[in-house]
Amino acid sequence: MNFKKVMMYGAISAAACFAACNSDKKGTAESESAFEVTCDEFADLQVLRYQIPGFEELSAQQKELAYYLYEAANCGRDIYYDQKYKHNLRIRKTLEAILNNYAGNKESADWKKFETYAKRVFFSTGIHHHYSNIKFVPEFNFAYFSELVNTLDASLLPLDNMSKEDFLKMMQPIMFDPNVDAKTVNLASGIDNVKGSANNFYEGVTQAEVEAYYAARINPNDTTPISWGLNSKMVKENGTLIEKVWKSGGMYGAAIDRIVYWLEKAVTVAENDKQKKALSLLVEYYKTGDLKKFDEYSIAWVEDTESRLDVVNGFIEVYEDAIGKRASFESVVSLKDMEATKRIAAIAKEAQWFEDNSPLTPEHKKKNVKGITAKVITVIQEAGASNPSTPIGINLPNANWIRQQHGSKSVSLGNIVHSYNIVGAKSPMMKEFALTEEEIKRNSEHGAIASDLHTDMHEVIGHASGQINPGIGDPDQTLKNYASTLEEARADLVALYYVMDPKLVEMGVMPSLEVGKCEYDNYIRNGLITQLTRLQIGENLEEAHMRNRQLNASWAYEKGKAENVIEYVKKDGKTYVKVNDYDKLRVIFGQLLKEIQRIKSEGDFAAGQALVENYGVKVDQALLKEVKNRFEKLNVAAYKGFIQPKLVPVMDGEKITDVKVEYPSNWLEDQLWRSKNYSFLPVNN
Ligand code: ZN
Repeated sequence: MNFKKVMMYGAISAAACFAACNSDKKGTAESESAFEVTCDEFADLQVLRYQIPGFEELSAQQKELAYYLYEAANCGRDIYYDQKYKHNLRIRKTLEAILNNYAGNKESADWKKFETYAKRVFFSTGIHHHYSNIKFVPEFNFAYFSELVNTLDASLLPLDNMSKEDFLKMMQPIMFDPNVDAKTVNLASGIDNVKGSANNFYEGVTQAEVEAYYAARINPNDTTPISWGLNSKMVKENGTLIEKVWKSGGMYGAAIDRIVYWLEKAVTVAENDKQKKALSLLVEYYKTGDLKKFDEYSIAWVEDTESRLDVVNGFIEVYEDAIGKRASFESVVSLKDMEATKRIAAIAKEAQWFEDNSPLTPEHKKKNVKGITAKVITVIQEAGASNPSTPIGINLPNANWIRQQHGSKSVSLGNIVHSYNIVGAKSPMMKEFALTEEEIKRNSEHGAIASDLHTDMHEVIGHASGQINPGIGDPDQTLKNYASTLEEARADLVALYYVMDPKLVEMGVMPSLEVGKCEYDNYIRNGLITQLTRLQIGENLEEAHMRNRQLNASWAYEKGKAENVIEYVKKDGKTYVKVNDYDKLRVIFGQLLKEIQRIKSEGDFAAGQALVENYGVKVDQALLKEVKNRFEKLNVAAYKGFIQPKLVPVMDGEKITDVKVEYPSNWLEDQLWRSKNYSFLPVNN
């Protein structure tokens, strides 16, 4: 199983200057100009806002459907907190009790630090950084925390029958010691990745035990293999491994029942029979926890291509489990952007041409690329793992066999990208990290379309391409902790290879190869330099997308070194990179694509491990120091996320007659509102 989503392109993307945007036409001129995109900024984070253009055009029934799906999304909020770390809900509820009830001095420096900490916990859905996965500790001390807790009545706190004293004793290491449960997911090589990860997917089991458990269940000749482990926590009871399944009546049952409640309402106002079938299967899956049902649902979901509204809701991405079995809850509710979908549909139509003309070894090419449905969506609501930090492209379902036999849906999140573009156009990142005026100019002319095309090609063509050799089964099981990085690298390389192809100009989706050059400049600069802004001194790369970008960029640098294809330049004590030969770089990207596809097609773990470890992990610490230094002077938040709109039904008695959209602008208030309305789980699951 893979992590098939594209995030904004490291710091550069959040910062790149995108001149135009395909969603410009959508809102009215007044609402576009009046709408404030920025919301809040704290630590290394910035909260942005997005609008839902097109919502007003929906029929009353579609709006009602959107509202039910919105509620179903938000009902899973607690699940994701608990999945990330078993103490997250207790910590969050403690912070909320203090925020809602503390009556003392709210002007002190300590209180400000407390608020910042709470905002960060809400942003990261817990106490581990949403991107680096490393635990962050409060800037106020334990004595101050104790003082806050002690001012509150015991009934307001999640004490679970503990005395306040015992409660504080328990909370101290959890919140204040960075070495206790230091990382939610730990992908380091040479360790037990299950034991080394603080997430709540396993308890009391070793990686070897888990792997043996599933090895006994996986039949490599099964053409419709179940995604074992996707919807459960694994624990050891009386010496036996047990899966605690997330379903009605099971673990997380209280929240899942609320999701089911709203999904069942959604079924009654579905747009058509295909959508009704998909939603009904999702309900059945949540009720039974049966993973075969989930596959049936996924197939029905892929087949529903006509509906204007769509939803992802479930345990989807396995990226937060170090060994890629268990999935995080997420939901994305959306409506199709009819106009912007035309570009992505044009690309999807040529999928077979792209496969036939790719640099892959012939036996690794798909003879018959199946049903890639591509569209640009307008997000209505995101919850769980897709919020507040959001993908800009999503390609689902994840099961390789469903993708091969039934196809997949690929989407680009248009209104999210639009908000990024607005803040990006004002960012000083390009000026600091681009070497030449030519690059800056090219980026301001073509950066937006280059980025859009990269996302489209990555999702629609990249993830869908390639053929697995017979008898290999699911290669991601073999490639283990390197599977996600290699899969993302493969999809990026497909995009990079074709963005310099005249075919895209012929198709009318880009004006000239200048777009490709712009993409090469930005990709290489980001992969070798600017994405380092996201790391702390001393760190190496961990996150799959970051690893993949450095892998692709530094492999290309090394292969082209003799011919000076990519060059490091020192100027005024600052390091830059420069692409000297775009055509040769394209050939090199093609070579790496061919090799990574071979690794995937054959399930060659040793070669995959060597590639990732040699090119995608280690960071030049002197360069990192320099980059951090330059970045800090710019005062740009390294990470961005979004505050979600609210849908408010207009009722006539029991009946919903209309749905209004509200756009909150206070991060803390909005999070407290969500906690008040969507808390369904106890602190101890
Ligand atoms: Zn991807």
